[in-house]
Amino acid sequence: MPLPTSQEKDSIDSQPQQFASDNYSGICPDAWEAMAEANVGYARSYGEDEWTSRAAEMFRELFEYPCEVFFAFNGTAANSLALASLCQSYHGVVCADSAHVETDECGAPEFFSNGSKLLTVATTNGKILPEVVREIVLRRSDIHFPPPRALTISQATETGLVYRPDEIAALAETARSHKMHLHMDGARFSNACASLGCTPAEISWKAGVDVLCFGGTKNGMAVGEAIVFFNRELARDFDYRCKQAGQLASKMRFLTAPWIRMLENGSWLSNAAHANTCAQRFAEGIKGLDGIDVMFEVDANAVFVRASEEVFQALRDRGWRFYTFIGGGARFMFSWDSREDRINELLADFREIAG
Ligand SMILES: *Cc1c(COP(=O)(O)O)cnc(C)c1O
Repeated sequence: MPLPTSQEKDSIDSQPQQFASDNYSGICPDAWEAMAEANVGYARSYGEDEWTSRAAEMFRELFEYPCEVFFAFNGTAANSLALASLCQSYHGVVCADSAHVETDECGAPEFFSNGSKLLTVATTNGKILPEVVREIVLRRSDIHFPPPRALTISQATETGLVYRPDEIAALAETARSHKMHLHMDGARFSNACASLGCTPAEISWKAGVDVLCFGGTKNGMAVGEAIVFFNRELARDFDYRCKQAGQLASKMRFLTAPWIRMLENGSWLSNAAHANTCAQRFAEGIKGLDGIDVMFEVDANAVFVRASEEVFQALRDRGWRFYTFIGGGARFMFSWDSREDRINELLADFREIAG
């Protein structure tokens, strides 16, 4: 493919910032520099390099726990392979009906587990409650239905809410009492830590999480999610699972060097805190506008807006991009590089449209 001409390049550079997804953002300077610094000389491949062992060590320090750590390219693979390691093919996995594993992974959890069935539960706001877990577990116990063996929760949820430590502990307790493991989809785990002001340990193993998929991409990396096993028994042969699934990066250092840098200097948390603050600012700014409502509490970096289709169309006409796949509301996601001036432009458009 030919490189863009300078004219085309100008138009790319001038594409205004959008808040449709935290994945619209590029790579943050820390991650980019760490990759560049790892790009010298030769290193052992397939995760046998110094960066990868150092990154795993840094996760053990961060979590204050001797966890087993693996790295995959993306969240779909991380979630699917982690869930597969908790289940036999004839087991069930309880998840929210809005969960990414259910709505956005194209059946990968079922595929990689050779058929473990996702058992969705309805929620009012994206958060799973212990009683609905109990209800689905107790509903059937006959040979014709896959017995639930795992519970998966998203932290933060797809609706932008954050589970508090006591809420996670209650879910873990319910899961454990029914011989289920607890998986956490932490594509936005950093945002949850920043929101709660908790240590990573407090909302993972201390609250009873068996395995966490800790997202890097949405927090400013190019690629790379960490799969963190606190229940180390469950990590058995996980390296083979990754390899078979095409998720063992031969040049692993380019996934792990950014983790080292961002865990070392704290930008994993400050990036997320910035994104959360931007979401708060935006939510504050639209509060009280006629015909505009914020649908869910703004705990993390997402704001869901309920408004008429006319309002959405007027926003689109002004060049704004957003998705409406959750509850029909417009989702605005903020990320490590969200800019105040663009948030102000969005707010100004909202104010004008709302009249
Ligand atoms: C983005 C996201 C993922 C990961 O998705 P990939 O596109 O596969 O990296 C997983 N869970 C949630 C809740 C997400 O928002």
